[in-house]
Amino acid sequence: MLKDRRAKLERFFTSHKIEAILISSMLNIRYLSGFTGSEGVLLLTRDRFWLLCDSRYTNQALAEVQAGEIRQFSEKQDSVRELIEELKLQRIGFESAHTTVAAFMEFSGKLTGCELVPINANLDQIRSCKDQDEIGRLGDVARLASEAFQATVGLIRPGLSEVDLARELEFEMRRRGADGRAFDFIVASGERGAMPHARATDKLIRSGELVTIDFGAVKDGYYSDETLTVAVGKPGDRAREIYDIVKGAHDRAVSSVKPGMTCRDLDAVARDYIQECGYGEYFGHGLGHGVGLEIHEKPTVSPRSDMTIDEGMVFTIEPGIYIPGFGGIRIEDTVVVLADGCRLLTQVPKELIMV
Ligand code: ZN
Ligand code: ZN
Repeated sequence: MLKDRRAKLERFFTSHKIEAILISSMLNIRYLSGFTGSEGVLLLTRDRFWLLCDSRYTNQALAEVQAGEIRQFSEKQDSVRELIEELKLQRIGFESAHTTVAAFMEFSGKLTGCELVPINANLDQIRSCKDQDEIGRLGDVARLASEAFQATVGLIRPGLSEVDLARELEFEMRRRGADGRAFDFIVASGERGAMPHARATDKLIRSGELVTIDFGAVKDGYYSDETLTVAVGKPGDRAREIYDIVKGAHDRAVSSVKPGMTCRDLDAVARDYIQECGYGEYFGHGLGHGVGLEIHEKPTVSPRSDMTIDEGMVFTIEPGIYIPGFGGIRIEDTVVVLADGCRLLTQVPKELIMV
C-alpha cells in the first residue's frame, strides 16, 4: 500500500531527471512512509528510502516505518548532507511549496557537487486519489461527525447561542472517538449566514432564522467536512425557495460526478443551475475541495480548475447562496469518486431540517 503511494513519485523522477526526492512536509512524509511524528525528513530514491528523525521519534519511527531505513540526527541538515554524500547523489528534487527560502539557502550552501531541483505544489497531488485504507478512514471519520451532528441537532432552539451549539457538536464528536474538530466550526444564524465563513459567536439563535452549520472531525490524521442549513421555526417563502435551489444544485452536481470530467465542468453543473435560477451573483466560492490528510487539499473544484476527476478522489460538493441583509444557505457533502459516479461519505440527509 505505502509502496504503491511511493510509486506515484515515479513521474517526478522522470520529468525532473532527478535521482532522489527530499520530502520535508510532514503530511507527505506520513503519506509516503507511515511516520506520524512532527519533525523529520524523508529522502527517497527510486527503490529505497531513508527517514531521518531526532531522538524523540526514533522508537516511534522504528515502529511505524517499514521497508525504509531510520536514521537519528542531532542536526537535520548536516545528516541529510552526509546521506546525500554517502549515496553520491547529484540531482535531488525538493518540495518548493513546503520549503522556506531561508531553509533552501542554508541547505544549498552546505551542499557541494549536488543540484537541488524544485518540484512545485503538483507533488501534493499524489494524495488526490485515495487508496482503500484512506477511503475507509475518511468514511469512518465522516460517519462519526455525521452521527455527532444527528445527536446535536435536537438542541437547536431559540435562545441557544451559536458557540454553545458548536461546543456541543465537538463534544459529541469526541465522545464518538474523534481526535478533535477539523476546524473552528461555522455556525452562522440569521443575517450572519450571508458570510460563508462566519465562525460561531455568542449570538443567540432566534425563531424564524436559518442556521448554517459547517463542521468536521479529525481522526487518525484524516478529516471530514459537511454542512447543513437548518430552519428554526417555519421558514419564509424566500428561504424555502433558496434552499430548494441550493439543494437542486447540490443534487445535480452529486449525480453528475464521473471520472474523466474536469473539475471545472463539475463546478459548472451547480453554478449554471444557480445562475439559471437567478442567484448566480450570490454564489462566489468554488464548488468544492479535496479532503484527506488536510481539510483543504487537491483537487480544487472551481471554475478555474482544469484537473481531471479520477476514481478514488475525495472532495466536497458545497454550493451556497449568500445574500447580504438576508442570510445564507449552504449544503455540503463529501464524496468519493467511483468508476461510474460517486458515493457520499458524509451521512446526514440534506432535506431541509426544521427544528
Ligand atoms: Zn465545510
Ligand atoms: Zn468544505
